[in-house]
Amino acid sequence: MSGSDSLISVVVPVYNEQEVLPEFHRRTAAVLDALSMPGEIVYVNDGSRDRTLPMLKEIQASDPRTVIIDLSRNYGKEIALTAGLDHARGDIAVPIDADLQDPPELIATLVEKWREGYSVVYARRLSRDGESWLKKTTARNFYRVMRRIGGKVTVPADVGDFRLLDRKALDALRQIREQHRYMKGLFALIGFRQIAVDYHRDRRFAGSTTWNYWRLWNFSLEGITSFTITPLKVSTYVGGLTAVFAFFFGLYIFSKALLIGDPVPGFPSLMVMVAFLGGVQLTVLGIIGEYLGRIFNETKNRPLYFVQDVLSAPPEADSA
Ligand code: UDP
Ligand code: MG
Repeated sequence: MSGSDSLISVVVPVYNEQEVLPEFHRRTAAVLDALSMPGEIVYVNDGSRDRTLPMLKEIQASDPRTVIIDLSRNYGKEIALTAGLDHARGDIAVPIDADLQDPPELIATLVEKWREGYSVVYARRLSRDGESWLKKTTARNFYRVMRRIGGKVTVPADVGDFRLLDRKALDALRQIREQHRYMKGLFALIGFRQIAVDYHRDRRFAGSTTWNYWRLWNFSLEGITSFTITPLKVSTYVGGLTAVFAFFFGLYIFSKALLIGDPVPGFPSLMVMVAFLGGVQLTVLGIIGEYLGRIFNETKNRPLYFVQDVLSAPPEADSA
């Protein structure tokens, strides 16, 4: 299986990456050349609005290993990556970002580990150059929370989508068709023999990240709600605790009125209780809503994406 005739698919979701594409392709192609195994680079054009698509076509004209999956619109990275993995023909697949934050050179190391018999080799970041302290801290804490409440599936910290998957893992992943795709979680969910390889995450080569804190927050919500129902359980206990508290508070007020008398009606305490309970109830409703919304989206069972075009080089040129 791990002979030099197995095919490697490098899967790259791209959205408005015209500045980095040539450099990315140059470095990735060099890595594939050195690998001594046939390869393809599957670019998924996720509805880019700049010159990304024409540039991909130019790249394809000069490198027949290029496959272009042109999606019908922008779907977001997770879906774009899914589309790429669906179309990957390789015995192994390596999802990687186009912005060169994940160094393509590491693919060689991933392949080495795979040859040692691992099904999933994930790249673990040691440093996050060029990211703010706040982003680093939020990321770190997010993984910590996820580990606490994630149940049996542990999402390893500091791991992105950059990894190697063998055919078994890839086929397993492709069976998961849920709409809310928290990829890191899905990668962890499938199991198999996994191992980490450490690397230094670089600064974005050019262009800018499409992430902001609001999106990160939503991403975290996605991660939590698609992997655990712990928040729902917590709601139950918060409700219970509030009730117990209310009971003792009631006792206190009752006895105070009996023993000391209470000439001033308890307007302030009444307002505090009403506001507090209202807040708790709305929060819990919100949590239920997050799950309900996801159930709504999943039950529609829509296809994950639509493909405008699949462009691969003509077979006679496919000699590489
Ligand atoms: N990307 C995509 N669709 C999107 C946003 C991003 O396919 O809607 C691609 C992007 O081109 C890049 C990768 O996903 O190859 C990671 O994007 P980005 O660098 O913005 O995310 P970050 O590195 O901050 O997680
Ligand atoms: Mg990036």
